Amino acid sequence: MMITPIHRFRDIERKPEYLQPDKCVPPPIRSSLGTMWFIRDGCGIACGVVTWFLVLYADFVVFLVMLVPSRDYIYSVINGMFFNLLAFLALASHFRAMLTDPGAVPKGNATKEFIESLQLKPGQVVYKCPKCCSIKPDRAHHCSVCKRCIRKMDHHCPWVNNCVGESNQKYFVLFTMYIALISLHALIMVGFHFLYCFEEDWTKCSSFSPPTTVILLILLCFEALLFLIFTSVMFGTQVHSICTDETGIEQLKKEERRWAKKTKWMNMKAVFGHPFSIAWLSPFATPDQGKADPYQYVV
Ligand SMILES: [Zn+2]
Ligand SMILES: [Zn+2]
Repeated sequence: MMITPIHRFRDIERKPEYLQPDKCVPPPIRSSLGTMWFIRDGCGIACGVVTWFLVLYADFVVFLVMLVPSRDYIYSVINGMFFNLLAFLALASHFRAMLTDPGAVPKGNATKEFIESLQLKPGQVVYKCPKCCSIKPDRAHHCSVCKRCIRKMDHHCPWVNNCVGESNQKYFVLFTMYIALISLHALIMVGFHFLYCFEEDWTKCSSFSPPTTVILLILLCFEALLFLIFTSVMFGTQVHSICTDETGIEQLKKEERRWAKKTKWMNMKAVFGHPFSIAWLSPFATPDQGKADPYQYVV
């Protein structure tokens, strides 16, 4: 068989009779308590906690340093409500991105019965992952942190302590979007606060001492600027890869396109749900993706 670039990147590629299905034993079915998706990775958990801490820090500075001491009541209430709504949506998206199964392929499904049930045509090849003993659907990749094969894996993100894949990409995109928006909002408020405070007496400007106020605001500025750049670049990259229907891994590996080309709008709907509605912006709405058959192999 001719070796093409696509084949080089596959973990293993064999005809059904060489897959050694006898060696694959499906794991025992766990109780419903054990089915919650959560990756036990120390680095990822630490990054996730840092993310919540950074959002809480921003909320603390915005509230206690800028809004509460302000004498403009309307300005404080409107900005406070808007900032907290965005922060709440960012954290909710973070939780959903972290706790949603990104599209894991059942472990140990490379059994004789399963391979037979696929009714492969002569000459058709299937891919078996040697690490989790599963038959890989097309476009699935093995993640060494999750220790599973993930359908349409984009990358493993330690900040959400999970893989970004077919089933949780919406939440990840919303997370980057809301973090970019709260960062921008915080920067605008810091800008106004500095303008206002240079004209006024510093002691009337904040309930903290002037040096503490300046340090808290500079730290917030630094945090907001860093995350605005980081998350807006990530958001742009994600939307681009959704529109072109090519995951981060496929772009890196320059994989040849084996799947049908669809319009940008159809690709967006496949991730965010059918039909277009306000639910696209909600981390609580589970998208109805109308999944295609994942076991479509190239003949
Ligand atoms: Zn695997
Ligand atoms: Zn992963």
